Amino acid sequence: MCLVITVKCAETLPPNVEGDFLDGATLSLIPQHGHYREKRTAAFNISDIQVGGCACGLLTETASWEADTWQFKLGMLPLLEETIVRIAKHSRRGFTFEAAWHGKELPHEQRVTTKELRQIIKENRVSTTTKYRVAA
Ligand SMILES: [Zn+2]
Repeated sequence: MCLVITVKCAETLPPNVEGDFLDGATLSLIPQHGHYREKRTAAFNISDIQVGGCACGLLTETASWEADTWQFKLGMLPLLEETIVRIAKHSRRGFTFEAAWHGKELPHEQRVTTKELRQIIKENRVSTTTKYRVAA
C-alpha cells in the first residue's frame, strides 16, 4: 500500500507551473497524463522528489491510514503548504486535494477555502477519509 496525494485542477495550468516544482524543490508535482488534459483539466501527484510518484516519504513512521488524519513529518508541512499556495495561485477555477491510499476512494468531501486548507495542513490535520474541494 502506498499514500498518493492527488490534486485536480478545473483547468490546465501553464507549463511553467510544473517547471517551478522541478527546480530545486523538495516536493515535486508529477502530471498525470491522459484524459485529464483532453478535458482541459490538470491532475498531479504531489510526491517526495527523492521517492518519486508517491507521498510515503512525507509520513512519519507511526502514521496510520486507520487514524482520522495523516501524520506527516513536521518538516514536510511547510513544503506541502507552499505547494498548495502555488497551485492556488494558478488555478483560478478551483481544485481538489486528497491524500489516499493508492486506489482507495475517499467517502467524504468537504468544501474549503485555500486559507482553510493551508490551516489544515499547518496543523497536520489532513483527513484520511475526506477529499477537499477548494473554491476558486
Ligand atoms: Zn509509496
